[in-house]
Amino acid sequence: MKPLITGIHHITAIAGNPQANIDFYTGVLGLRLVKKTINFDAPDVYHFYFGDEFGSPGTVFTTFPFTGARKGVKGSGELTYTAFSIPATSLDYWIGRLKKFGIPVSDVLTRFGEQLIRFEDHDGMGIELVANDRDDRKGWIYGHIPFEHSIRGFYGATLNLRAKELTEKLLTQHMDYHFIGEEQGRFRYGTEGKPGDIVDIVLDKTGQRGMQSAGTVHHIAFRTANTESQLEVQHLLMKHGYMVTEVKDRNYFKSIYFREPGGVLFEIATDEPGFAIDEDEAHLGELIKLPEWAEPARERIEKSLTPVALNPSKYA
Ligand code: ZN
Repeated sequence: MKPLITGIHHITAIAGNPQANIDFYTGVLGLRLVKKTINFDAPDVYHFYFGDEFGSPGTVFTTFPFTGARKGVKGSGELTYTAFSIPATSLDYWIGRLKKFGIPVSDVLTRFGEQLIRFEDHDGMGIELVANDRDDRKGWIYGHIPFEHSIRGFYGATLNLRAKELTEKLLTQHMDYHFIGEEQGRFRYGTEGKPGDIVDIVLDKTGQRGMQSAGTVHHIAFRTANTESQLEVQHLLMKHGYMVTEVKDRNYFKSIYFREPGGVLFEIATDEPGFAIDEDEAHLGELIKLPEWAEPARERIEKSLTPVALNPSKYA
């Protein structure tokens, strides 16, 4: 049977200042701002999507930036680190680049035989860059970063949980994931086990629960091909007792949500239709795009949003 779920679709975080958020993910990391829209559930807040050239599923980090939001706290029941995939030979380049912009970087760590670095954005969002030669995605680069060092998309995500049994059961029995291995209390799962589909559970039995605010992840979305496969997943999850929402139209994909047993909000999002449905691929992210139902309120919504700009020259 064809798998219903094929890895990570997007990861969505809460952020502070919208301009600082755009500067970091486009300027420092070189992701493309592929969509500038609003939080469909809170229309006076932006929703930014950063990804590769087209915002392909598996590359898209998204944020809800709240001006003046206080910092959240990483803890148990949260996705604490989002890992991006970089070429095996690019680690030194990225260490140098992050240092150039005054961003403290961890020592080079080794995990499951691959080297990585860990750092935080200005809001405290946990990020890792994992150097590997197993990623056949082309990547894309914005600004001044040489193409050969570009981020290829997600590598994976770390869930910090008090217990793993129920989450493991969900992943491996109902979400097409399988167990890959364990290393120092880190339990790894994948659909194929390739960059873009890795989920790690780190056990934190006594950890404080996290507090969601700027610099913490709101949810992780997993990929499914289309609305038919999504309904199959929804049916399967509900049959096994998960409280799954109805299908929500997010314009660029359709979504269902449920909370996994460890406390992290999971979403299942469709690969279709993608970000080119309401603006030309050459101009993704340039204008504020609104869903049809919000268009009548455009003037009021735009007034409530702080204007933002792309500043590539600041990050040469
Ligand atoms: Zn989402």
